[in-house]
Amino acid sequence: MNGNDRTDGRAPAPAPAGEGTRAVRAGLPDPVKNEPPLPGPVFAAHFHLPGDVEGPYTYGRDTNPTWTLLEQAIGELEAPSADGAQTVVFASGMAAVSAVLLSQARAGDTVVLPDDGYQALPLVREQLAAYGVRVRTAPTGGDAQLAALDGARLLWIETPSNPGLDVCDVRRLAEAARAGGTLVAVDNTLATPLGQRPLELGADFSVASGTKGLTGHGDLLLGYVVCRSPELAAGIRRWRKIIGAVPGPMEAWLAHRSLATLQLRTRRQWSNALAVAQAVAGRAEVTGLRHPGLPGDPSHATAARQMQGFGSVVSFTLPDRAHAERFMAALHLVEDATSFGGVRSTAERRRRWGGDAVPEGFIRFSAGIEDEDDLVADVLRALDDASADGP
Ligand code: PLP
Repeated sequence: MNGNDRTDGRAPAPAPAGEGTRAVRAGLPDPVKNEPPLPGPVFAAHFHLPGDVEGPYTYGRDTNPTWTLLEQAIGELEAPSADGAQTVVFASGMAAVSAVLLSQARAGDTVVLPDDGYQALPLVREQLAAYGVRVRTAPTGGDAQLAALDGARLLWIETPSNPGLDVCDVRRLAEAARAGGTLVAVDNTLATPLGQRPLELGADFSVASGTKGLTGHGDLLLGYVVCRSPELAAGIRRWRKIIGAVPGPMEAWLAHRSLATLQLRTRRQWSNALAVAQAVAGRAEVTGLRHPGLPGDPSHATAARQMQGFGSVVSFTLPDRAHAERFMAALHLVEDATSFGGVRSTAERRRRWGGDAVPEGFIRFSAGIEDEDDLVADVLRALDDASADGP
């Protein structure tokens, strides 16, 4: 697919520079008369394959044209100027995370993980240890992983971290890692490719759950890995073929369709998140408020240097479990649900899962695309109700 294949006779268009334009056009094939702009999902377990095994599409666990377009689209958003970067899509974020960690590390290697990342990472850590991989951990904040890098095969960064919203300096960590021959992977789930472009900051892999802000409607699971080079991508693709954690064509197509509104959704989510953070900042019952967009937040300076937007998530702590449960129950516009990055605001008392090292009253709040005034009013009223109903 290149500009010479156009069937409408027009000259190929120059690559668009604006991110809204890139998002709405990402991965679209050149127009073909009487065909839809975004071809529909290709449902195929196998493709016609007479004679020698050749051509792009052979068997549905290896390749699928609907993935190809989505991979092209995500690559255009994550690494618009990186020559040679390639994207591999997966059935879920964890499929993508595991693909990088389990395919790159061998017995005897050392991997550096954050100790405050997504709550499934400790499970991956156990698995790495079972395969004879040594694991070191350090916090995200203060670039503390720098001190754990010596001799490591792979550094795993999650910034902003979930749910604590600490941020580390990706460029600084990547430079140190590269000097020591350590590969760098960044979990870009919370930021989305419009909020942060890890490959431009020096990472070898940008990995994300597309289940969250990337697709934004809370109706599918998806993951992806953007790789700096075709060689790295070949290893990740091989892993996908072995493990078979492939996305369904319908999910891949829905994800691609969702990208058209990525800029509209994320811009509104980011401004709503900041508004909610600013609104709860003055409340006596709220402690530990975190959002990288707040000028006084410990993450703000680094985030402002390396991010294009501060994300849809805000976290804060209410006095205790009962107070947090009253707050959650009093919300009308905010669904009590795990996950984040959706068009409808969600929140949860994170400690109910048991995993994260957070207080009982810790709330992880994900701003949707509601009208800011309605959302802020709902949150403030729920805080009032939760305090009024207290013991
Ligand atoms: N990475 C981060 C930062 C996450 O928050 C999540 C899920 O919440 C994942 C990875 C895993 O994504 P999925 O649920 O799509 O497997």
